[in-house]
Amino acid sequence: MALQINDLCVNCWACKPLCPNRAIYEALPHFLIDPAKCTECLGEFDEPQCAAICPIECCIVDELGEPLNPPGSLTGIAPEKMAETMSLLRAH
Ligand code: SF4
Ligand code: SF4
Repeated sequence: MALQINDLCVNCWACKPLCPNRAIYEALPHFLIDPAKCTECLGEFDEPQCAAICPIECCIVDELGEPLNPPGSLTGIAPEKMAETMSLLRAH
């Protein structure tokens, strides 16, 4: 089992030093996780350390593509409310 970083990554560096297995590495256009090294932090921490620090919702996903920090989980803004607000902003 391994997590993945997708193209929402803003290369903030927060996750890399926290990985107990040195599975996160710099790449272009964004950081990546070596699936051979990632253990999802099982047996080492209560939660994946990269996802616990990542400031971007939906940036780190599991093998099914499910985000560990889903929409609204970090901002506290419900996805429906965000969609409604963005729609209003685009209309002006
Ligand atoms: S889940 Fe844990 S082992 Fe896997 S990349 Fe993130 S910090 Fe490293
Ligand atoms: S913490 Fe998130 S946004 Fe920052 S480098 Fe890691 S994956 Fe990218």
